[in-house]
Amino acid sequence: MKTYEQWQALRKTLKLPTEAYINGQYTPAQSGETFACINPTDESVLGHVASCDQADVDLAVAAASKAFKSGDWSNMAPGQRKRILQKWADLLEQHQDELALTDTLDMGKSISEMVGIDVPDSIDALRWSAECIDKLYGEIAPTKPNNLALISREPLGVVAIITPWNYPLMMVMWKISPALAAGNSVILKPSEKSPLSALRIAELATQAGVPDGVFNVLPGFGHTAGKALALHHDIGTLAFTGSSRVAGMLMEYAGQSNMKRVWLEAGGKSPCIVFDDCKDIKAAAQGAATAIFTNQGEVCIACSRLYVHSKVKDEFMEALLEAAKAYVPGDPLDPATKMGPLVDKAQLDTVTRFIESAIADGATLAHGGVPEYQEGQGFYAKPTIFTEADHSMEFVREEIFGPVLAVMTFETEEEAIELANDSKYGLGASVWTNDLGRAHRVSRLLESGMVWVNTWGDGDTTVPFGGVKASGNGRDKSWHALEKYTEVKNTWINLA
Ligand code: NAD
Repeated sequence: MKTYEQWQALRKTLKLPTEAYINGQYTPAQSGETFACINPTDESVLGHVASCDQADVDLAVAAASKAFKSGDWSNMAPGQRKRILQKWADLLEQHQDELALTDTLDMGKSISEMVGIDVPDSIDALRWSAECIDKLYGEIAPTKPNNLALISREPLGVVAIITPWNYPLMMVMWKISPALAAGNSVILKPSEKSPLSALRIAELATQAGVPDGVFNVLPGFGHTAGKALALHHDIGTLAFTGSSRVAGMLMEYAGQSNMKRVWLEAGGKSPCIVFDDCKDIKAAAQGAATAIFTNQGEVCIACSRLYVHSKVKDEFMEALLEAAKAYVPGDPLDPATKMGPLVDKAQLDTVTRFIESAIADGATLAHGGVPEYQEGQGFYAKPTIFTEADHSMEFVREEIFGPVLAVMTFETEEEAIELANDSKYGLGASVWTNDLGRAHRVSRLLESGMVWVNTWGDGDTTVPFGGVKASGNGRDKSWHALEKYTEVKNTWINLA
């Protein structure tokens, strides 16, 4: 791991791409418009990035369709497609420090997390999907003797992918890896708040041998570039990670246009339940702190609602407040920093508003509090914990997407489950217990796409990631992600 000084030195030599990537080359927006990309640590401008709109979307869709129809990628021998994606993964590995630094500068995430989690996980997603390419078999249906029915999986065509800013590289790689592995052409619209690493990897894709037009990147605002993609008639599938509000809009756009299929990974308000049979309360408290303060709380699966059994509340709170001390906001380029600034002023304002509402609603502030913003000094929030919260309070019900935790108590297993499920979201849940039966029982009853027992957030490329209810309908990672990006075809042959 590089030192703070080494990261600063690398920063001086770092060249950040700012143009869209269409048909294998960097291209300014047709309109010539740009938007400023801001470093949330010191509010300096990192670059003026192409602001794409309908004209750029049309250009990219034409290039992607042409590439798809040519068969250069969609019909390439599976082994060859695999080798190209593996070479791309090698290139990402060669440029891993540069990619880590880019995301840290772009959205404020700690460099240690980038190096330890985001970059390796992103490369793993690509390698895993690449490995699947020549292992996807079709099926033969058990029909009557005079028939042969083949069930095959085919690429979909042009896939649009829209991603958020909180794990810029990782969210992109979780989606584009299976989509490209399946043989599709992809148009990626990264978040306007952190578009830079997506633009850099596009160039490396071409270098690895991905044919022109197969992977395109259109930076720009959601309501222009994103909406134009979602309404486009020549895009058959749209995969999205972001807020539930925008996810709902995308379903409407699909209905208004060509009924493209829409895969959604949306917001969350995840519960963490600590039972009184939990033998290691200190570990539970550390897990709970990690679950809300990692990545400044800008995590879809952040456990922002915590339910602790009343019998162990005092012991738990003491350990939680101790664990929270490890999260001191600081310069994310310092490898010792566990918590950087929030992504921008708007996010800081949102977090501030929720903390103020929690105080106004009568929750008790146990740690942190209202951010003290100074212009030009970065968008730093304080890790914040409230007790005496309840479900009537807005900050307990709504996704904050910041480092703010609501602690509540319960008496029975039934009550804990009812409270955990009392949310429009259903993304992740963390359960702390030493009773095996209870672990299984509670996991089954939780309305949640993912449950972690005696841990939080763990996983790798082999397991699906996604939610239920307003948290979405899609799954990233694993075979289940590949299923999203292929079409099932039945070919019935009369043998008589
Ligand atoms: P967002 O919904 O504001 O934006 C996500 C993307 O959608 C961005 O690229 C944005 O430009 C685009 N967009 C915005 N409006 C659009 C429109 N009208 N049409 C088309 N595209 C549009 O979300 P965000 O603030 O970038 O990210 C935070 C959200 O993402 C949180 O709710 C978080 O929980 C969620 N998230 C979910 C997961 C998951 O796997 N479920 C993972 C990470 C983040």
